Amino acid sequence: MTPHAQQTTEAARAAQTFRPGLEQIAAYRAGKPAPVGPDGRSIKLSSNENPYPPLPAVERRLAEILPAAIARYPSIAAPEVTAVLAARFGVSPENLVLGAGSVEVAAQLIHALTAPGDEVLYAWRSFEAYPILTRVAGAVPVEVPLDAAARHDLPAMAAAITERTRLVFVCNPNNPTGTVVTAAELEAFLAEVPQHVLVVIDEAYVHFDRDPDSPSGIEAFRRHSNVAVLHTFSKAYGLAGLRIGYAIASREVAEALRKAAIPFAVSRLAQEAALASLEAEAELQLRIDEMTRERQRVCEALAAAGLGFAPSQANFVWMTAGAESARIAAAFEARGISVRCFAGEGVRVSIGTPEENDAVLDVIAGLA
Ligand SMILES: *Cc1c(COP(=O)(O)O)cnc(C)c1O
Repeated sequence: MTPHAQQTTEAARAAQTFRPGLEQIAAYRAGKPAPVGPDGRSIKLSSNENPYPPLPAVERRLAEILPAAIARYPSIAAPEVTAVLAARFGVSPENLVLGAGSVEVAAQLIHALTAPGDEVLYAWRSFEAYPILTRVAGAVPVEVPLDAAARHDLPAMAAAITERTRLVFVCNPNNPTGTVVTAAELEAFLAEVPQHVLVVIDEAYVHFDRDPDSPSGIEAFRRHSNVAVLHTFSKAYGLAGLRIGYAIASREVAEALRKAAIPFAVSRLAQEAALASLEAEAELQLRIDEMTRERQRVCEALAAAGLGFAPSQANFVWMTAGAESARIAAAFEARGISVRCFAGEGVRVSIGTPEENDAVLDVIAGLA
């Protein structure tokens, strides 16, 4: 760039005015890339991703549709994957809305339901996209602290609902703590929530939940018209890089979400990979079962080392490390393992392949 062009750009930049409140929004903090360990290995356990390569059936399907899927716009309605999901959950296709990841669907929900100044309620600490998406929409985040067991405090959340509340997120299992609410607790909560408030059950990790007392978001949706459920292909299905997730909601809410959606956000590659994954669910289930067994192995190692953690129903474990969090995260990084550190609170470690978890166990043993 010539010095003159540079100057002009700088001047133009200085002249912009930004939306009031934008300065309060922290950029989304993505999981760090893995550092290189002493053995030359890098292990990324900071974003709760699926550690496995795509299923062969998914790779084959993607190869088949290239390059046509690149030059052409995808179908906005995505009728095939919508039909398969609707049949799978016994709902109408009209109850389904896709997005570029369930994060995009969460944004659709907030944009469709809130006016500036309306409140969006969620537990804290929870998924860090909630405050960002809420503020970007001009709505007001209301955060209710988790209880002493790092679980949603649903009675306190019910008490925090006001006339301005439009939306409540219940992240179950909760990111980053892995904890769940019980079906009875959720029902008691839903009985307290006024009809005009939409309760969104974010089930990004539902496939890893083995707690028999856990609620089914879909069941709750069937019983309550003010419940919506968010699911994603990013975690258990291993499609994080392709961006596809969906909401199941009442026809009215679903219709509103379609209006708030970004046109063509869900690529044909994402749609076809989701379809191929749904056809290969038995194969995916084997991986999911292995990850839940591996979670148990990591938890047992933490218990044996006398380190605190929350009981997890997700593909990660929350170490309740408090003031020790930074030191513990550094110990992982020294071994080439990236984890998610919330300084002063805890450390979230995703479950990887058995070999990757062996490396995690070595670090845990060293912390004992
Ligand atoms: C990972 C995650 C998502 C899913 O994100 P995508 O946009 O579907 O990749 C949604 N909710 C929570 C709580 C998550 O942790």
